[in-house]
Amino acid sequence: MYIDPLYLVIMLGTTALAMLASWRVKGAYARYSQVPARSGLTGAQIAQRILDLNNIHDVEVVPTHGLLSDHYDPTDKKLVLCEENYYGTNVAALGVAAHEAGHAIQHKQLYAPLQWRMAAVGITTLAGQAIPFIGFGLFYIAPKLALPALALCFGIVMLFQLITLPVEFDATARAKRILAHTGAVAPGEETESMGKVLDAAALTYVAAFISSLATFLYYVMHMLGGRREE
Ligand SMILES: [Zn+2]
Repeated sequence: MYIDPLYLVIMLGTTALAMLASWRVKGAYARYSQVPARSGLTGAQIAQRILDLNNIHDVEVVPTHGLLSDHYDPTDKKLVLCEENYYGTNVAALGVAAHEAGHAIQHKQLYAPLQWRMAAVGITTLAGQAIPFIGFGLFYIAPKLALPALALCFGIVMLFQLITLPVEFDATARAKRILAHTGAVAPGEETESMGKVLDAAALTYVAAFISSLATFLYYVMHMLGGRREE
């Protein structure tokens, strides 16, 4: 069986990048979730307060299992915090809670990149599910169709990761502004520690984008290379 060395390099490189980004987030979280916020507020309380301050009354703040599975669900209008952050009174918990509240504010203000991202969820899920079928099936049945189809699917995934970047960076910028404004996180060490957790989390999205871009370019290159050889 022949495996393209470039493909191997991309696979190993992107896996290493994802692991590095995830390791950095977990490290930053483990460290700064030990830093208590003097305000004494829990993640759930600050999330609720931010929603109230922004006149958002139809979003529910709920706890869930699974460390760092925090997210904002725009379909069900739920701000989901892992139990560690829901009940936590440390700067990491407050930072994550404020970040998710930032997404709820984006939703209310019809922030364009979030709208695009929501619109792209369906087709991106479809593209992601199609990739293994194309990779294993279409290559045998219709090899000429397989490369353009794979390039298209990875292109869709790459665009989704790209529009995720402004959504995530904006939510983090909002979180930092709001927490400084409300005084929930004190200036100095508390704010710096919180910033490190949120910045490490943002980098995981950059890593995901770089990975999807590298994979997309790989298939585009092969597609164009294949044409030239004909
Ligand atoms: Zn986010």
